[in-house]
Amino acid sequence: MSIPTALIGVAILSCLMGVAVLGSLFHAPVPGIRHWCVASALLAVTAVLLLFRRLDVVVASASTLLVIGSFLALQGFRRFFHRRSSISWEYGALGAILVAIVYWTYVSPDVDARGALISGFLAYIRFAIVWVVQRHRPAGRPQYAYHFVSIAAVLGAIVHAIRCVVYGFGLAHETAFLEPTSINVAFLGMATMTLPALSVGTVMLAHDRLAQRMERLATIDDLTGVLGRRAFIAQTEALLDDARLAKSKLSIAILDIDNFKRINDRHGHAAGDKALAHVASTISLGIRQTDIVGRIGGEEFALLLPLTGKEEAARLTNRLRAIVAESVSQAPSGDVTCTLSAGVDEFRAGDTVASVMARADTALYAAKASGRNCVVLAGSLQSRWTEPADANAAR
Ligand code: GH3
Ligand code: MG
Ligand code: MG
Repeated sequence: MSIPTALIGVAILSCLMGVAVLGSLFHAPVPGIRHWCVASALLAVTAVLLLFRRLDVVVASASTLLVIGSFLALQGFRRFFHRRSSISWEYGALGAILVAIVYWTYVSPDVDARGALISGFLAYIRFAIVWVVQRHRPAGRPQYAYHFVSIAAVLGAIVHAIRCVVYGFGLAHETAFLEPTSINVAFLGMATMTLPALSVGTVMLAHDRLAQRMERLATIDDLTGVLGRRAFIAQTEALLDDARLAKSKLSIAILDIDNFKRINDRHGHAAGDKALAHVASTISLGIRQTDIVGRIGGEEFALLLPLTGKEEAARLTNRLRAIVAESVSQAPSGDVTCTLSAGVDEFRAGDTVASVMARADTALYAAKASGRNCVVLAGSLQSRWTEPADANAAR
């Protein structure tokens, strides 16, 4: 068995493994995965055809499938990152390359020109993959998979670029397609190594996207887009530890929409949902960068204010209360205005998250009892905040 044949065998196996693994994720909600799966299948067929490379028709078909499969893989990457999957001139280039493959196979046979052209295109595809991955890799996620794919694609791109230059500029010649010359063996060897690395990389990306989705589902409240109760409390516990170590202040506010049942009754549940999302986004936009907001109950939110004493926290919460009271969300039955009542307190030595939340909750009840649409500081009913806040002064 010649070395190219052995390497092609390895390529077939690795592409088939790629199809099997990507196929298991075929119905996963990850854009691009179907493109990658089909691309792997096409590349597997390409590799099988290369075993019969003495026939012109087989070489032309294999070259065509290789070009189309690689283009599909690039489209998969673009879809994965929610980009437009193709650029119009690429279709033109693809058409021209397919015509050139036929021309240099049947009309004016030229193995070097055909090889140089295909490798040039494949180098472009791999550089385009690196570009899209590096440009759009998500911040805040582990970067390993994104760099792994990029390195595999760069290596593939370099191999193809070298082959394109070598055959394009006549630095070496081959009389038959993929004859066992040292440059072909080197090229095939590198290609067989980078192909499975790329397909493993696509599986890593899909996996990361699914993990991101699961983490989001576990931490973010679907309706409002803010942290859910569990994630809010987890973050509060972490920040409480930090505050204890740094001996810094940390306050919490619990905010509840007033008479929300009435809003649901008057405008309907869907309008109520919309109003809830509106209040959450108004609060999110109004807080400082270091503050954290979570939805801890049906129409109840909590706000964590690091490096902030309770008086300052009450003032900031009152500002949010005023902004929400002045804003509206639209419903088919008319504008919906929500007001908030809130209770505020500060963490003291020996406090747990539950104990300080309980005190803020008691203050919230006091705010409700004293007429709603106000902020009350725990332990001091006299500290009741109702006046419209000066937005700029409060920031
Ligand atoms: P209060 O001022 O005393 O807080 O009165 P309230 O009506 O806001 O409080 P209550 O606890 O009596 O009612 C809360 C309402 O919030 C009842 C419930 O249907 C509604 N609610 C809770 N979660 C959601 C939700 O996700 N969507 C909608 N539309 N309504 C919700
Ligand atoms: Mg309420
Ligand atoms: Mg409530």
